[in-house]
Amino acid sequence: MFEHRLHLKRKKEHNDHGKQELNFFQSLVNKLSGNKFRCNVCGSTFNHFKKKKAQSHIHYRCPRCRSDESLRSLWFYLSNEIIGKKNKKIFLVFGKNKLLVKKLKDFGITPKIVGTDYITPFGNKKTKILTGNIYDVIILSHVLQFVDDDQLVYSELKRLLRPGGIALIQTATNPEMDRTYENIKTSEDIDRLKEHYEPGYLRIYGANFSKHLTKAGFDVEVVDYAGQLGPHARRYYQVGRSERELIFICKKNINK
Ligand SMILES: [Zn+2]
Repeated sequence: MFEHRLHLKRKKEHNDHGKQELNFFQSLVNKLSGNKFRCNVCGSTFNHFKKKKAQSHIHYRCPRCRSDESLRSLWFYLSNEIIGKKNKKIFLVFGKNKLLVKKLKDFGITPKIVGTDYITPFGNKKTKILTGNIYDVIILSHVLQFVDDDQLVYSELKRLLRPGGIALIQTATNPEMDRTYENIKTSEDIDRLKEHYEPGYLRIYGANFSKHLTKAGFDVEVVDYAGQLGPHARRYYQVGRSERELIFICKKNINK
């Protein structure tokens, strides 16, 4: 008898738990449905982007494909300006960016992929050096701020790009700082950088970042693609604050 009651009690608890889970999923489905916002990476519409708090600012991730503002902004640029119907360009992607690689593959592009360890000042003996002068488009989205020696990256990019090829760079910049804040180490550094800092950053570039790139030998164009979309589209697609999502287009000059 007692065992029977216990069994019923457990069954009820199990059902209650099931109901709670069902309510949770129902509320999640409600949140995900709707058409207030749209993700240009996966094409889904919903009523909420997912908030992800990083230090003191918030990223808005797509609840379906998990794209963030930087990727949505970059994908707008790539899909509208770079990838044609019959793409013959050779792509290279630096760093782990599975979603971007998947999107490129959807468009028939199989990019070469290298990890950030490809470029280290100590040399990675296991890494095979890539053939130079062949890439039309190299993408470094939020990679540079994690790399020990960014000057090495610039010279390698120039070697890898074909003449006239472009590197698309997105990185951590704070236009209110004149210069790059190098060697972020102490808690005082992090306090000073406030919402511009995220764990793992070695530096944050200042307003003179494009000058650095020019000095490294590139023809540089700075594109605020998120800003160009206008306030309505910017909100609808949540493409973020433009200073963080700037795309630095570095062209390998044929004559240099
Ligand atoms: Zn998405």
